[in-house]
Parts: sequence; C-alpha cells; structure tokens
Amino acid sequence: MAKFLYFFSFLMIFFGCKNETISSSKESISNVKQNEFAIIIHGGAGTILKENMSDEKEAAYKATLAEAIKVGHTILKYGGTSKEAVLKTIQVMEESPLFKAGKGAVFTHEETNELDASFMDGATLNAGAVAGVTNVKSPIELAIKIMTDSDHVMLSGKGASVFAKEKGLEIVDPSYFYTENRFKSLQRIKEREKTALDHDDKKAVFYDVDIKNSKFGTVGCVALDKQGNIAAGTSTGGMTNKRWGRIGDAPIIGSGTYANNKTCGVSSTGWGEYFIRSQVAYDISAQMEYQQKTLKEATTDVIQNKLTKLGGTGGVVALDKNGNMSFEFNTAGMYRAFMNDKGKLTVKIYK
Ligand code: ASP
Repeated sequence: MAKFLYFFSFLMIFFGCKNETISSSKESISNVKQNEFAIIIHGGAGTILKENMSDEKEAAYKATLAEAIKVGHTILKYGGTSKEAVLKTIQVMEESPLFKAGKGAVFTHEETNELDASFMDGATLNAGAVAGVTNVKSPIELAIKIMTDSDHVMLSGKGASVFAKEKGLEIVDPSYFYTENRFKSLQRIKEREKTALDHDDKKAVFYDVDIKNSKFGTVGCVALDKQGNIAAGTSTGGMTNKRWGRIGDAPIIGSGTYANNKTCGVSSTGWGEYFIRSQVAYDISAQMEYQQKTLKEATTDVIQNKLTKLGGTGGVVALDKNGNMSFEFNTAGMYRAFMNDKGKLTVKIYK
C-alpha cells in the first residue's frame, strides 16, 4: 500500500511539473527575442492583382518600398531610435508619388488634398496626430511634433498648419501634392457617382472603394529599436472623393496606429470607417495584453474574423516586443516589406 502511495505521489508530482513546464515553455516561447531590432512597412492594401500590374510598375513599387525600409533599418542598426526610423522611412514614401500619402495624395470631392497622419511611442504611450492639413510637406513629421512640442494629441486643418509653421516645418504650396493620376481617379469616381445618382442609386459607394475594387494607398511603419522601444506611424491622403472634412482611421490612435512596448505596434490601411469602428490597432494590442495571444493570433483574429465580419477591407503590419513581425490583410494584395536584425529584406505585394 505504502509503495502504491509513493507511486501515486510520484505520478502527481510528475504530471504537475509537466503541466507547469508546458505553460512556462509556452510563456518562454512567446518571450524569446526573435530580433534585437526590426522594421515592417506597408504602402496600402487593396485589389492589387498581378494581371493588372505592369512589370515596370511592380518594380517601381518594390524599389521604393526597399529604399524606404533600408533607411529605417540603417537607423536602427546603428542604435538610432524607433521614432527616428519610423519618421525617416515614412518620409521616403510620402515623397514618392506612388503612394497616396504626401505627394500623390488622393483628391477630395472639392479637388483638394487633405492629409492625415499619426504616430505613437510605445515606451511612453504618448502620441501625436494630424487631420486635414493641405500645405505641410510631411504630415508624419507634424504628427510627431504635435506629440513632442504640444500639450495635445490631435490637431486639424488650419490650426495644425499654423502650428507646423511656428515649429519650422516645411510648408509647401498645395499644388505640391498634385499628380495627374490621382486627379484622373477623382474624375472617374465622380463620373460613376453621377451615373449612380442619375439612376437614383443612393446606396452607391462614391469612394475609391467597393468590396470588389478597393484601392488603399496609405503608408505605415512599425519599428523596434535596440533599446526595446516600439514606435508606429501612419500617413495618408485618405480616400478619393472624400468630402465634408471626412477623416479616416489613419490619424486616429487605436484605429490607424498603436504602439505599446508591453505588447506590439500596429499600422493600418483600409476602409477607414471600418477600422475606426473596430479599433483595429488597439484591439490587436489588447488581445495580446489581456488574452495572452501571440501577435499572429491577434492580427489574424482582428483582420480575418472581426473586421471581415463587419464588412471592412484592408490590412495591418505589426511587430511585437520580441521582434516578431506580422502582416495580415483581407484584400487581394498589400504593398509591404520587412527587415530583421540580420538585414534580411522581404518585399511583397500579392497574397
Ligand atoms: N485608411 C485610409 C482612410 O480611410 C485609406 C487607406 O488606407 O488608404 O483614410
């Protein structure tokens, strides 16, 4: 009998330890540093199909994504901050007419360009955002300035421009943002809008999206630096044919951008109204914090399950405190690139 009790106690201890080992090993897997530093970017999601893309255009997108991410990666490699990396990387994409942020921004119904951007610092949970500026060359720089040099998180319109000027940021003539391509897109959408209204179709979508033909061109970046700090930023012209001062998710902390050193950083692109309603970026962080999900599990649930069920389209790039990187989208493609601490670069467009 004594022998049996000893054996029984041994089994209890053995299985008890094993359970402990399983849970602690799960914990340690999620705590293994995958990269000392890392960076991930997007240049918008949507109905991006190989058959609609010329070789030259594809090469141009890939080259600009690679150029942008290498700028940030170099900053991180030499010990620079994730804030600096996000700023400089996004600025390359803002200056490229290929993306709908900065130069090449989409047009509003009134044929103007109104730019939005946001930034968040995962170390302090401080953030800055700007909506509807028309003459600030780098909206991401302005978002960061609002965070560092004002008591506010979000400024908009004319007031934001005054602030930018006072802080010495580069002011440009609004025509700087003009590109023929984007102007033509607006005219095409207005044509569709007119036809729909002539047919009394009040349900028609007058943005540059519908479920089958979405084209988002926001740019975003998330970086982890050697000090363990995560930063995320997003910059956009919004959606073609927007009006009434419409503001999307890109400048909304928690929707378009979120960063928290405890969990992850996220930048979104997609149909902003749905991203605001779903609090996409914060939800990913919250699932990691409160449900102990991995980055991959959280991004998959938020994009493929929750956002999709609501009818939203788009995607995110994200990176966690251990340098794991993840992208997730429910559209045909998403311009994206990521680089690890070994300098391995991946650039992708399609599924
Ligand atoms: N999310 C942006 C907006 O709704 C659009 C985009 O991602 O291109 O304004």
